[in-house]
Amino acid sequence: MVRGLRKAYGERVVVDDVDLDVAAGEVVGLIGANGAGKTTTVECVQGLRRPDAGTVRVLGLDPVRHADRVRRWVGSQLQDSALPDRLRVHEAVELFATGRARPAGELLDQFGLAERRRSAFASLSGGERQRLFLVLALLNRPRLVILDELTQGLDPAARRGVWSAVRQLRDEGTTVLLVTHELDEAEALCDRVVAMRRGRVLDAGPPARLVDRHAGWARVQFGWPPGDRGDASGIGDAGEAGELVRAMRALPGVRDVSVHGDQVRVHGDRPVIAHVGAELVRRGRIPADLRVELPDLEAALLRLLRDDDTSTTAPTATSATPAYHAGPFTAELIGAQQ
Ligand code: ATP
Repeated sequence: MVRGLRKAYGERVVVDDVDLDVAAGEVVGLIGANGAGKTTTVECVQGLRRPDAGTVRVLGLDPVRHADRVRRWVGSQLQDSALPDRLRVHEAVELFATGRARPAGELLDQFGLAERRRSAFASLSGGERQRLFLVLALLNRPRLVILDELTQGLDPAARRGVWSAVRQLRDEGTTVLLVTHELDEAEALCDRVVAMRRGRVLDAGPPARLVDRHAGWARVQFGWPPGDRGDASGIGDAGEAGELVRAMRALPGVRDVSVHGDQVRVHGDRPVIAHVGAELVRRGRIPADLRVELPDLEAALLRLLRDDDTSTTAPTATSATPAYHAGPFTAELIGAQQ
C-alpha cells in the first residue's frame, strides 16, 4: 500500500503524490513513459529508498524501518552488477537460499539453467543472467515478488517461460509487482496496471478497462466482391456499393468510412462492430474476409500519454477525436503524436 508517495533527487521531484494498492495475490504492473518514476516507486516499496513524504506499507510493515522482516518476504530481481563474476550459478543459489527455499534444481530447470549450474556468473549471457536473477527472486517462496523489466533481453521462448512462471506464482497466491515497458507482457500477466508519467499516476485498472477507456474504438474491414462494384472509378461512387458506403456512414458510432481498392474500412466506436455486421447481414452481403481490428494496451497508453501532453500544453484540444488513418493502430497513434 502506497499513499501520497513523494521522492525527489535533489531539487527534482520524480515521484509526486503516488497512491498504489496491490492486493494479496494480485499481479500489478507499473507501465508508462521513460523516467516516469516507476523504478523509484518500487525501490521505495522495497525499502531501498527512503520516501520524502507519504506512507509505504509492505505486508503491513514499513520497508525502511523493518527492512530485515520485509526482505524476508519480498523477492526482488538483482541488478546486473550484484553478483561477483566468479560466483557459479549453483553457488549463488546456495548463498541466497534460506530454510524456506524451493528445491534449487527444480527452479534452475524451470528457467533453463540446469546445464549452466557450474558456470561462473561472468560467463552467462544477458538472458541467462536475467533468468538467474529470477531464480534468486523466487527462491525463498516470497509473498511479494518485485520484478523490474523481467523479460528484457530474453528470447521469445525464454520470455514465454518467464510468463508461465509468473502465472504459476499467481496461481500459488504470490503477489507480484512488476515494472515493464512490454505492454503485451502487461496485458498477458497483469490483473491491473498503473500508468505513470512524470512522477504521477495517470490512470489505473485492469488492462482491458484501460483499453476501453482510452482506446474504445474499432475498425471493421471487408472486401466488396469485384462484380458488385459501383463503377470503374471506385466502390464508393454509385450503385449498390455506393449506397452501402453511405449506409455505413449513417450507422451509429461510425466516424469514418474509407475505401481502399476493393476493401471497405469502417472506423468508429466499439459498437460499430455489431452495427456493421448487422447491416451486412440485413443486406444479405456476408463477406468471407470480414476482419475486426481492436486497439491494445499500447494504443491505450499512447493515447493516455498524448492526452496528458495535450492537457498540459494545449488545453483547448479535444481527446474525443481519435486520429484514424490507414495502418496499424499503434502507428496511427505514434504518427498522431509527432
Ligand atoms: P525508465 O522506464 O526509463 O526505467 P522509470 O519510470 O523507472 O524510467 P525512474 O528510474 O524511477 O523512472 O527515474 C525517474 C527519474 O529520476 C528519471 O528522470 C531519472 O533520471 C531520475 N533518477 C533516477 N535515479 C536517480 C538518482 N539516483 N539520482 C538522480 N536522479 C535519478
